[in-house]
Amino acid sequence: MSKTDLIIVGSGILGLATAFRAHRQGRSVRVIDRSARPVGSSIQNFGHACFTGQADDSQDLAMASRDGWLEAAAATGIWAAETGSFIPAMTEPELRVLQEFADHRGPDQATMLCAEEVAAAIGNPSLGAIGGAHLPLDMRVDPREAAPALASWLAGEGVEFTWNTTVTEVADGTVSTNRGDVHGEQVVVCPGYQLTSLFPEIAEAHGVRICTLVMSLIERPQRIPSGFAMLTGTSLARYDGFAAMPGASALREDLTEREPGLVDVIANLMVTDIPGGLLIGDSHAYDLSPEPFIDARVGDLLLNRATSILGIDEPVVRQRWLGQYADSTETNLILERPDARTTVAVVTSGIGMTLSFGIADRILGEEAGASQTRPAPHSQSLAPTADEVVMSDQ
Ligand SMILES: Cc1cc2nc3c(=O)[nH]c(=O)nc-3n(C[C@H](O)[C@H](O)[C@H](O)COP(=O)(O)OP(=O)(O)OC[C@H]3O[C@@H](n4cnc5c(N)ncnc54)[C@H](O)[C@@H]3O)c2cc1C
Repeated sequence: MSKTDLIIVGSGILGLATAFRAHRQGRSVRVIDRSARPVGSSIQNFGHACFTGQADDSQDLAMASRDGWLEAAAATGIWAAETGSFIPAMTEPELRVLQEFADHRGPDQATMLCAEEVAAAIGNPSLGAIGGAHLPLDMRVDPREAAPALASWLAGEGVEFTWNTTVTEVADGTVSTNRGDVHGEQVVVCPGYQLTSLFPEIAEAHGVRICTLVMSLIERPQRIPSGFAMLTGTSLARYDGFAAMPGASALREDLTEREPGLVDVIANLMVTDIPGGLLIGDSHAYDLSPEPFIDARVGDLLLNRATSILGIDEPVVRQRWLGQYADSTETNLILERPDARTTVAVVTSGIGMTLSFGIADRILGEEAGASQTRPAPHSQSLAPTADEVVMSDQ
């Protein structure tokens, strides 16, 4: 194999967004993945690009990522709907947080809705909400389409893909695989939660573990609009943008009292629409080696709560699965350069779809800056501190 400008390990959304950006810069790019096609976190999720809910100081990164998604969608034809998110307020504490957030961010980012408007928006006239909000800048993509279609478009553009090939070591531009070595001027490693096997020392330094999430796909009644995304009170307690509002602690107390089951499973109850139906989730459990079993009670709890908001009496479940993503107790983004030719990038929170293109820009910016201005340190951490990049977890 010949030498390439940039080798990317991992064909998830982070690797592919980086490949897209680098290809557009005119660089030769090769992507290597152990799988035969993208099957990691990037296809298991809601496809919800939740730019608005990220913290105030992550808004530049979020909006850069939004531009990236729009550019990629225009170039490749992948579906990226600017339909926003709807959040019904079922209680006073939820309404208060939404009102505070709308006042804080202004009408470009959050519009308050009356009870009838939010009921119409989510397609359930009997909703019983006391109000709600629309976040117009949030976007929807189809997680089952986006990464595979992006890979296929890049392949058509001349980006080389080496599938079914496991990378065993990366150092100084040499990528060792179970099929031999390849060489690149630069290497970007985006292995998601499999960082633990490829760079165990980086994973251990950041306390990387796997977050598992119970998900299901149900049939979508016609009355629920296509491109739909709904967050709920548990989302308001979880995303940093909302959680920074003064009313968030009262909201948390109220949730603990009213919905102890959801709080116990660390739920972010939300629903998004894809062509195959409605995606419903999710719970969060953390482990280095998670059990593979789906707890049916957790799945049923999430399903019951979501379908009761949507007014679906007899949901038809098509699929259930246990999603996995990388999590860290220390940071939301690992961005390190173990040597001058290698960048390791892992989103350690449930927001990699949202921020992928923004992070890709940062990866390529850091890499270009480092190769132009820095000597070759053996181990240099470019990881922003949690204070520099505060991102909300999905
Ligand atoms: C249920 C669920 C819901 C979520 N919802 C959302 C959401 O709505 N919005 C949002 O923004 N984010 C969401 N996320 C998070 C998001 O999916 C992830 O942050 C993102 O997909 C991570 O992308 P990635 O490219 O880093 O990882 P992955 O998609 O996991 O890709 C990593 C790739 O690296 C390859 N690889 C690993 N090791 C090697 C090796 N040694 N050799 C070769 N190849 C290797 C793997 O095969 C894989 O293809 C959710 C996640 C889950 C699981």
